[in-house]
Amino acid sequence: MLKRFQISTELQTELIDITSNIEKLIKDSKVTEGICSVFVPHTTAGIVINENADPSVKRDFLVELNKMVPDREYYTHAEGNSSAHIKTNLVGSSETIFIEDGRLLLGTWQGIFFCEFDGPRTRSVWVKIVKEK
Ligand code: ZN
Repeated sequence: MLKRFQISTELQTELIDITSNIEKLIKDSKVTEGICSVFVPHTTAGIVINENADPSVKRDFLVELNKMVPDREYYTHAEGNSSAHIKTNLVGSSETIFIEDGRLLLGTWQGIFFCEFDGPRTRSVWVKIVKEK
């Protein structure tokens, strides 16, 4: 089954923890074992899995990514948001997580983050839940 939800981002670049949104979709689906694929249908946003216990981790990640891929005068993309497109390719547009006992099988410190690289905007997240049991 395919589920979708929207999120409103507030900053030009930010990470938003969407783990609980996806856990809720899995709970509602009644699927206890299977695979969950999370996909972002945008060219200037992505998905990552990282630590969600200490907020410094996502802050440091963004600081470093913005330093690695700054806006450059020599970019030729007319829309002027090449750095956002590049960051999207670096982090990727999807993640796949196993479902076990009706829950996402994430490590203790792991969470799923929506990555905004050209906000603020209203964004979509697509979630495919494949049932094994
Ligand atoms: Zn563009």
